[in-house]
Amino acid sequence: MRWGFIGASSIAERVIGSMRKIPGQEFGAVCSGSAARAQEFAAAQQLQSAHTDLAEFLQAGRFDAVYVSSTNEQHCAQTIAALDAGCHVMCEKPLAMAHADAVRMVRHAAAKGRVLGTNHHLRAQAAHGLIRDFIVSGELGEVHGVQVSHAVHLPPHLQGWRLDKPGAGGGVVLDILVHNADLLRYLLQREPQRIHTVTQRNGMGGRDKAALAVEDGAMSVIEFEGGVLAQTHESFVADASALTRLHVLGTRGNLYALGSLTQAGTSQLWLRDAKGEREIPVPPVDLYEVGFTAFVNACAGRGQPLATGADGTRSMAVALAGLASAASGRVETIDLSV
Ligand code: NDP
Repeated sequence: MRWGFIGASSIAERVIGSMRKIPGQEFGAVCSGSAARAQEFAAAQQLQSAHTDLAEFLQAGRFDAVYVSSTNEQHCAQTIAALDAGCHVMCEKPLAMAHADAVRMVRHAAAKGRVLGTNHHLRAQAAHGLIRDFIVSGELGEVHGVQVSHAVHLPPHLQGWRLDKPGAGGGVVLDILVHNADLLRYLLQREPQRIHTVTQRNGMGGRDKAALAVEDGAMSVIEFEGGVLAQTHESFVADASALTRLHVLGTRGNLYALGSLTQAGTSQLWLRDAKGEREIPVPPVDLYEVGFTAFVNACAGRGQPLATGADGTRSMAVALAGLASAASGRVETIDLSV
């Protein structure tokens, strides 16, 4: 497949490294808001050309697919333009900034007969596949609760729009809660119904607390179909030594994973039940290689992306309802329509 890249972003650099491991991929061009950044990115990634005009990029590129990894407020318009140019689209999360826009993206992809995927990389983590298998097998009994501790230290090179541009979809809720919501939907295979979120502003990076425009910490309780409860913690201000933690509690056993909620693709997983505790070996994987391989296969008519456009829409809807809850102080209903 011939690829174009919309967004000269940090994550695109990493993703291209993973995509190079997938046979048959060709890397065409990048489109950025800045000519200098586009040229620098194209040179570093050995792309054929660099563009700042989206229409010209899409017309000249003859791409089979594009990867959209710009800031969040641009995802919708860029995805629609790429679909109109006949491209399949792998779009970063959150798919958009408004529910109606994400729904429009999904419907437009369907109308154009193109594949729309959402880059929810945590579905590719082997520990999460194992946890899902345990849940499906019934070995844990009835799963009644899940805890997700996804508190990280936002690295200095990413302390830009995520902290000071609410208009670009900054803030920890749209950045990390969307991933947790998607992972919970994937693990539980149930839809979330209601959410109560409380956010905090810790003044990351020494900024004046009052001037900080977006939240850098959040905790939520999410109620899933059947009354399963999940608790999530997202933060940008944890010490860099903090490990992420996922704890799945069933009536006959429980699983906990350390370090699975990162980009690294490694994790440790333990099962605890009446027989005691045993570690379940987790093979390391390149999360983006796995996710983009599924997407490439889906474009060739083999299966679905790991996370579809509808998945991205629903995970985003959880985050939007979380923001609404933080503002209202009330439990909010999640709009699952796609
Ligand atoms: P970056 O800040 O690295 O890039 C986002 C945009 O910022 C780029 O498209 C670029 O705009 C601009 N930019 C990049 N470098 C500079 C710079 N030095 N000065 C000014 N502007 C710059 O963001 P991320 O790569 O972290 O995130 C991009 C998207 O990917 C977001 O939607 C995010 O939510 C998502 N993401 C997903 C991850 C996943 O695992 N699924 C992980 C990380 C991010 P332009 O293109 O106009 O040059």
